[in-house]
Amino acid sequence: MEKGSDEMRAYGEMPNPEVKKDSGRKCPRCRGFMEFDPKEGKLRCLSCDYLEAVLSRNEEDTCAEEKDFEYAERNGNHDWGVEKKTVHCENCGIEMIYDAADPIDGCLYCGSSRVAEVQTKDSLAPGGVCVFELDAKQAAERFEQWIRKRRFCRKELKTSVHPKRFKGIFLPCWTFDTHTDTTYDASYGISYQGSKGAPQLEWDGCCGSYREFIDDQIVDGRNRHEQDLLDLNRDFQMKENKAYRQEYLAGFAVERYSVDLMDAWECAKEKISTRLQRHVTNRIMAERHADEVADLKMSTVYTRIKYKLLLLPVWVICFDVNGKLYRFTVNGQNGSVSGKVPVSPGKVASVVLGVLVILGLFCFFLR
Ligand SMILES: [Zn+2]
Ligand SMILES: [Zn+2]
Repeated sequence: MEKGSDEMRAYGEMPNPEVKKDSGRKCPRCRGFMEFDPKEGKLRCLSCDYLEAVLSRNEEDTCAEEKDFEYAERNGNHDWGVEKKTVHCENCGIEMIYDAADPIDGCLYCGSSRVAEVQTKDSLAPGGVCVFELDAKQAAERFEQWIRKRRFCRKELKTSVHPKRFKGIFLPCWTFDTHTDTTYDASYGISYQGSKGAPQLEWDGCCGSYREFIDDQIVDGRNRHEQDLLDLNRDFQMKENKAYRQEYLAGFAVERYSVDLMDAWECAKEKISTRLQRHVTNRIMAERHADEVADLKMSTVYTRIKYKLLLLPVWVICFDVNGKLYRFTVNGQNGSVSGKVPVSPGKVASVVLGVLVILGLFCFFLR
C-alpha cells in the first residue's frame, strides 16, 4: 500500500496461533488437522494433504430432515457432534460459533479484536448444510472480476485482494413447512356500464375457506445484515443442502442465529399470511368474476408445522477505508458477490470534469 494513501487495514491478517488443540478432526495418517476442502468435497489434512471422504462407503447423501416445531423447545437438538464455543463481538454485536479448539483471531465481520467467549450459550444444531463449493482462491478470483467492473470504486479495493483475507462463514437460515386452513370473508366488486357511460362497481359480500400447503417458507436467521445486501432466498440453492455433519463445517465459522426459532416462526407467519391474502384474493376474483376485492378478513390455522435450520456458505472480506467498514460476501455455492463499494471521489470528479469539458466544447462549437 502506498504511503500517504488513505489508511486501510487488512482485516483478518492477525497471525493464527500455530498449534490447535484436539477437536476430533484428526488425520488418520499423521494426526494433523483436517479441514473441509470445497474443491474436493472431502476433508483434507493441513499437514500431509491426505484426503478423506465425509461419508463412509455405505452412507448416502441425504437432505436435511424437517423437525416438528411443536416439540422444538423440548426436543430441539443441541448436539453439534463436536464441542463448540460461542464468541461475541463487542464492536458489531455478532455471535460466532467455532469448534472449541479453534483459535479466535478477532471478529470475522468487522475485524475488531474486542471479542470474548460467551459462557452459557446453547444453540440449536443445524439440520442441513449447503456446503462450500468454492475455495478461498476461487472466491478471490470472483471478487476481483466483480470489483474490476466497478469503475468508480477506490483502487485500494482492487489491489489488496488476497485469498488469505477471505474468511469462510456459514450464515443461518430457517425454513418452515406448514398446512394452512383459512376462513375468510370479503367484499367484491363487479364492474358494469353505468347509466352515464362511466364504468361502475357493484358490490357484494362473500365468505369461504381456503387450504394451502406451504413448503419451505424462508426466514433469514440474522438481524444484522444491512450491509452485505445478501438475499438468502434469492442467492442460494437451498434445495441442494445436505443433512448436517460436523465435517462440512471443519475449518469454517458459523454465524449464530440472532433471530431465534420462535421469532423466526412469527416472521414466517407474516410472510405466509401475505401470500395467503394474495391467493385468496385471486381465488375470489376468479370464482366471482370480480374486478376488485376489498375488506378481506382472514383467520388462519397452522398445523403440522415443521422447521429446519440451514447453514449457507459465504466468503467474507472486509476493508477499512478512512475508518469506515466495507464488507463483501462471495457466495460459497455460486460465487456471486454482494456488497456496497466505496466510491473514489477522484474518479467521480474526473468523469464529471470530462463531461463538463465535452459539454463546454459542444456549446462553443454550436455558437
Ligand atoms: Zn495428515
Ligand atoms: Zn465484529
